[in-house]
Amino acid sequence: MVRCRFAPSPTGRLHVGGARTALFNLLFARRTGGTMILRIEDTDQLRSSLASERLIFEDLRWLGIVVDESPEVGGPYGPYRQSERLERYREVAEALIRSGHAYEAWETNEELDALRRRAEGSAQGALRYRRRPTTPEQVAAYRAEGRQPVVRLQAAGIDQRFVDLILGEVSVAAEDLEDFVILKGDGFPTYHFAVVVDDHDMHVTHVLRAQEHLLNTTKHLAINQALGWTPPEHGHMPLIFSMEGGKMSKRDKAKTARAKALADGHTAAALAARTGLDEAVLADFLAKKTDDVELALAIGAALKLELPEIDVVDFRAAGYLPEALVNFLALLGWNAGEGDRELYSLDELGAAFSLERVGSTAARFDRDKLRWMNGVYIRQSSDERLLRGLREYAALNETPLAAASDETLLKLISLYKERATTLRELDLSARFFFERPTEWGPEKSLKKQLLNGRGLPNLAAARDALAAQDDWSEGALEALIHGLAEARCEGKLGELAQPLRIAVSGGPVSPPLFGVLALLGKAETLARIDACAARFGASA
Ligand code: GLU
Repeated sequence: MVRCRFAPSPTGRLHVGGARTALFNLLFARRTGGTMILRIEDTDQLRSSLASERLIFEDLRWLGIVVDESPEVGGPYGPYRQSERLERYREVAEALIRSGHAYEAWETNEELDALRRRAEGSAQGALRYRRRPTTPEQVAAYRAEGRQPVVRLQAAGIDQRFVDLILGEVSVAAEDLEDFVILKGDGFPTYHFAVVVDDHDMHVTHVLRAQEHLLNTTKHLAINQALGWTPPEHGHMPLIFSMEGGKMSKRDKAKTARAKALADGHTAAALAARTGLDEAVLADFLAKKTDDVELALAIGAALKLELPEIDVVDFRAAGYLPEALVNFLALLGWNAGEGDRELYSLDELGAAFSLERVGSTAARFDRDKLRWMNGVYIRQSSDERLLRGLREYAALNETPLAAASDETLLKLISLYKERATTLRELDLSARFFFERPTEWGPEKSLKKQLLNGRGLPNLAAARDALAAQDDWSEGALEALIHGLAEARCEGKLGELAQPLRIAVSGGPVSPPLFGVLALLGKAETLARIDACAARFGASA
């Protein structure tokens, strides 16, 4: 019976790479009829928080990643939060000490630094800690000093070799594995130790995680060996690279913010004025001395930049549908081998997934492809589904959509469904419905379609016809304007429609005109035409 797990550390929002890991585990569990566990790895006391944990749950729920066992829903092998399992780790560490596989080590950080420096100056290169004999008198003296020992695994002496489910044979020579810490001075386990104990206690059969953990696995196998446990199988998934190359990370936001700020000629002083942040700090940021993500976000907000989405919540706020993101993530490192087919629902993925088709080389995060896919999902979705999506989107953004009625949103959906690639695109293109235009442009279209030739007289004629119209349905408006185009413009609809479109929407591009007029309503349509005519009437 397959049991796999996703084990995030609650130290921030769920990264899109973490979401991919969670997804592959879920798909593997579904495919094999197994169980999916969510475990919270919160042994880093300083960086972990309950708030982050809740947000990770929220992002997973949004993605549709439903687990069978977790801190939220419980399960037979809990607790599923490491901070609630400290007793257990201590117990196992003591057993390892008793059996001679682990020992207490007493060095202070300063002493360890000195050992490290000495190793760096020697042929060894990097410190590989080995057991250093201590006498009972020394130990007593350390205790009297108030030192807290760490517990280290006696790892030396065994080559580690295993067959990775994705990468094949992996090996690490015995001399490369040091006696690493399993229990810290504060009594908390290290990541390595807690993972092994938990995977064992929770009967995990398959550990599927990103390739950055590959070397950790050799440590985990060493701990399993010392305990006489059968380790789970391991599979390490390819890294996710951004399009520019390099691992996709929060730093991409800093890189983008910096590049755009510099390209637009903003100095540290100018940025300081706009963000209220310290000029010296901003100068460091521009000079690549820091990639602080908070700075990137502040600059992004001040300059109204679109920074690359990295965390799942970024994609939520940017108006991606979870179905699209899930589909896209599934193809980051896996393919079904079904030719050109790229569109899969979560259920279809669960039926098609297999580890044999997970690749070993880095996968590229192709944002254009994701946008395309999202557009496909928007077009395929029911209006009710998109309404729910817009509500979720609006809750994460400052947008007039938040206060709009369901009826209005459904009308916007029907106007934009065929053309928007993200809900944000819909939101931004639809802003003109909520705010009467006060500017009309761009200059070129204005001249060509409204101000030269018969644009303004045509607009005036359309206004008169509309003012006399009572039936304000889309069909009736269409018939009316078509009739007028026949009468005035030899049937050339554009000569009427474009001036009208510019007048009511502020520009030459909008969804189908009659739908727009219908949604605006008669009074608002006439008011907008009047405002535009008043602005340009005199100069015509
Ligand atoms: N807590 C680890 C992380 O977030 C989990 C790694 C693992 O799956 O073992 O990277």
